[in-house]
Amino acid sequence: MAKVLCVLYDDPTDGYPAAGSPTAYARDGLPRIDSYPDGQTAPTPRAIDFTPGHLLGSVSGELGLRAFLESRGHTLVVTSDKEGPDSVFDRELADADVVVSQPFWPAYLTAERIAGAKNLKLAVTAGIGSDHVDLDAAIAHGVTVAEVTYSNSISVAEHVVMMTLSLVRNYLPAHQLVLDGGWHIADCVSRSYDLEGMHVGTVAAGRIGLAVLRRLAPFDVALHYTDRHRLPADVESELGLVFHESAADMVPHCDVVTINAPLHPETEHLFDDKLLAAMKRGTYLINTARARIVDQDAVRRALESGQLAGYAGDVWYPQPAPADHPWRGMPHHGMTPHISGSSLSAQARYAAGTREILESWLDGTPVREEYLIVDGGGLAGTGARSYAVRADAPDGLPGTARL
Ligand code: NDP
Repeated sequence: MAKVLCVLYDDPTDGYPAAGSPTAYARDGLPRIDSYPDGQTAPTPRAIDFTPGHLLGSVSGELGLRAFLESRGHTLVVTSDKEGPDSVFDRELADADVVVSQPFWPAYLTAERIAGAKNLKLAVTAGIGSDHVDLDAAIAHGVTVAEVTYSNSISVAEHVVMMTLSLVRNYLPAHQLVLDGGWHIADCVSRSYDLEGMHVGTVAAGRIGLAVLRRLAPFDVALHYTDRHRLPADVESELGLVFHESAADMVPHCDVVTINAPLHPETEHLFDDKLLAAMKRGTYLINTARARIVDQDAVRRALESGQLAGYAGDVWYPQPAPADHPWRGMPHHGMTPHISGSSLSAQARYAAGTREILESWLDGTPVREEYLIVDGGGLAGTGARSYAVRADAPDGLPGTARL
């Protein structure tokens, strides 16, 4: 029988929504999504024991796994306490067979922890992005790593679109003015523009970057992108995309830049003083990829000088961001905590995907190839395309970098 250790974020501060209460959730259900834009099917577990649309990613939600696991005789331990050697996570890890965690509240599986977790055989990322797992150590110890590929890519793309419009139209300050009882229209509109006609560029056009481009196309903007590989010619022509060899080539043409690339040595601190200075004065920068792709202090300086008109995103360094994080007080920002990929809609998909992975693994049948990152002592599936084993992970990057 397996022991599954699940690390989830805390319940809402005002309590977990009461089961069965008709007022607990804002809506009664979710639209049905059967497949993703590239044709990959949404998760297909044999059954689910949760209600799609309910809060699953926090401790009481348990990703809907308890009835399923306990009915088969397995043990489920759920905690949010993950930091430090006395944490519940560290204590329970000693004899856990499976660890499940989300990138929003990552349980860092460092080489040291993996070495000490003698029973560990499977690490599941409920969501996308397993850079919180030391993949080299997972490979060395025969631990399988899997994530729910595509489960929240569109969720993140929608967040990017929302933040783009929020910044350009100066939505958040205008809303704050209403909350404050004001009606000072000139104050609201003196920083408000239309997106129409602007030039928007994405650094990377993978699952999220391309979804952002597709969603922004109807706003009659000019679309730009840079990536290590060009998109198919028919996609470029359908969306009227202008390809640039590098971010440095692209940003001088853009009014809005969105970052949708993985964090790795090529992208770490890519947006420094020099690249920010190469942008048009008044560019908006949106980053939902990873905080360390930008130089934190350079972003703040660019907002203060007016070089950037706005900055938004949901990724911080470190996470959780401390109360005195320099980004909290910088001007013209529209930051959220790391939430873009954890909408209730996304939670339903990645909870179902986690269940699908566990069903396969516990039954000894193959885990879907597109969910695999590490398997059989090497990179596998999506991991073989998106990650590379490297021994010199830079400071703060726990484990193998995504490439
Ligand atoms: P994909 O793997 O689908 O796409 C990533 C793209 O980035 C690929 O096209 C890749 O190119 C490209 N790329 C890699 N390096 C560079 C570079 N130096 N310059 C330009 N392009 C580059 O990933 P997703 O779109 O699903 O996710 C992108 C990132 O978003 C993730 O790595 C993760 O950090 C972040 N993310 C954030 C979430 C959140 O909640 N905020 C949730 C999910 C993801 P190629 O394949 O040709 O090498």
